Amino acid sequence: RRRMKRVRRIVDGLAQQCGTPTAKLWLLADAMVGDMHAALSSSDGGKSTLRMLHSPHSSLPIGNEEGLFYGMDFGDTHIRFVRVKLGGKYGRVLDKQSIDIPVPSKLMVGSSQVGKDVLLELNEALEKHGVAMRVSTLVNDAVGALVGGRYSSSDTVASVILGMGTNAGYIENAYAIPKWQGSLVKAEEMIINMEWGNFCSSHLPITEFDVCLDAEGPNRDEKVYEKLVSGMYLGDIVRRVLLKLAKETALLGNIIPPKLMIPFSLRTPDVASMHQDTSQDLELVGEKMKEFGVPDSSLMSREIVVEVCDIIARRSARLAAAGIVGILKKLGRDGTHQRSVVVVDGGLYEHYRLYRDYLHEAVKEMLHGKLSNNVIIKHDECGIGAALLPATHSM
Ligand code: ADP
Repeated sequence: RRRMKRVRRIVDGLAQQCGTPTAKLWLLADAMVGDMHAALSSSDGGKSTLRMLHSPHSSLPIGNEEGLFYGMDFGDTHIRFVRVKLGGKYGRVLDKQSIDIPVPSKLMVGSSQVGKDVLLELNEALEKHGVAMRVSTLVNDAVGALVGGRYSSSDTVASVILGMGTNAGYIENAYAIPKWQGSLVKAEEMIINMEWGNFCSSHLPITEFDVCLDAEGPNRDEKVYEKLVSGMYLGDIVRRVLLKLAKETALLGNIIPPKLMIPFSLRTPDVASMHQDTSQDLELVGEKMKEFGVPDSSLMSREIVVEVCDIIARRSARLAAAGIVGILKKLGRDGTHQRSVVVVDGGLYEHYRLYRDYLHEAVKEMLHGKLSNNVIIKHDECGIGAALLPATHSM
């Protein structure tokens, strides 16, 4: 019983520190809006933690694009090739093919040719291999998702990436960008890549586990928001909590499972499968614990593992929701009857049902239930953003 008391003290303390009541989420959304304004007002970004990059070579599709187009999507682990045949205003997507090719592990750790123009390199490589094709545009994932979302629905106002990393893009009115006032701004709508992974605010719920992850992991003192939210880190935060429980309460037996001491050994998909284990005696959690060197975990310890996964995943989903509401507020769409679509892309959102539910629930909570009517948050199944950019250019 004494052990259980110690376990509860740690887990309850974690839940409290990771707490994201609606009022806190609004403080974060407002801080996000403040940083968006700051970065858009001054040419050096002022005090903003956001970059707010204008994507000058990207234009939004209007739906009448026509022809055969190709896109490549460079992920961290795979490259997706998309070939799409667009049939104009009435034909829309006539045909779509895509294949995923895993990036060979030797290339994942290889170094890039520092300072070389990627577009130039790509085109040189295509020419060298005799491929009669040229790459016209290179954009980041948030911009690609936004363009794809806009083709699917003209009400699309923003895109969010929730995969290995996190980022967001949105469509801004040129007149709302003070730093460009007076310069030649032709387009009324501009695509902004927020680079929101760097967002930082004193309102973010940061725990001792996050502090250690930041000190010991990659990109120290950077990417504060991304480290609380994205798929690259959730597994390792959970691992750090379980390690503390194993060390201080012997939750997982008398020895500390050696694998639990290895950074990034617990991955976010593991967290998702344990969190969503619906079997009565939490078999999946038991299996995972076995993999970590705990042959017979008790039901009570499995329940604690699920509780920890829930706390960390819920915090992430709710923080991502605050960011989304921040964008909607910046656009004046957090309380209107206008229909607003936010497209979300990335494995964390696509494959983790409870995560998605928490995110939707928090947005709804923040907007007092208006989500169901006016704000639609969804994955864009079409996924042709990268191929659409050359299409908008060819018009
Ligand atoms: P990338 O970010 O590399 O472009 P994805 O968008 O597919 O690729 O996202 C991959 C990330 O999504 C993984 O790093 C992982 O954190 C998360 N992920 C993948 N599958 C799952 C899953 N089943 N449950 C939860 N998270 C997942």
